[in-house]
Amino acid sequence: MNLKTFIRDIHDFPTTGVVFRDITPLLKDPKAIKYTEEALLDLVGNQKVDKVVGMESRGFFFAPMLAARLNAGFVPVRKPGKLPFATMRQDYDLEYGSDALEMHSDAIIAGDKVLVHDDVLATGGTAQATCRLIEKMGGEIVQCNFLLELDFLKGKDKLGDFEVKSLLHY
Ligand code: 5GP
Repeated sequence: MNLKTFIRDIHDFPTTGVVFRDITPLLKDPKAIKYTEEALLDLVGNQKVDKVVGMESRGFFFAPMLAARLNAGFVPVRKPGKLPFATMRQDYDLEYGSDALEMHSDAIIAGDKVLVHDDVLATGGTAQATCRLIEKMGGEIVQCNFLLELDFLKGKDKLGDFEVKSLLHY
């Protein structure tokens, strides 16, 4: 299946000059959902996974599906102030300004093998902050995987030695 036919380009979203890759056509198609789930699992291979961490909000579409299939738990990473229990926080720089991500303080147990999943790897700031949070909590990242990667933004460079795999490249 050519998954790229299910990704819609939206020009000038969210700001002028940006081409946003919209994955909602893929999410609307049951065969494309199933194909994507299987293909993401293929990226992981036989590696043992205890937790799948997904980032707000589009990481939440596939991360719980992957967790169920891998017999692992799902952990949400959210923007500040959204999680109800005690949290760990990681600040990160944006092109203009900064942002932060949070995870529940009991979400990762030291030694957990963690798969990080998001829909898109762009500049890598989100994934890098997420990986820092996981490592602060003693988790071991086995792979960061993405539905699609915007190669020209070189987000992979921010993820150092972690295994980074993406289904589609732009
Ligand atoms: P980064 O931190 O790597 O620059 O941006 C990645 C985050 O922004 C991801 O959580 C992703 O959902 C969102 N994102 C950035 N660009 C796009 C895009 O073109 N399409 C979609 N669907 N999400 C994007």
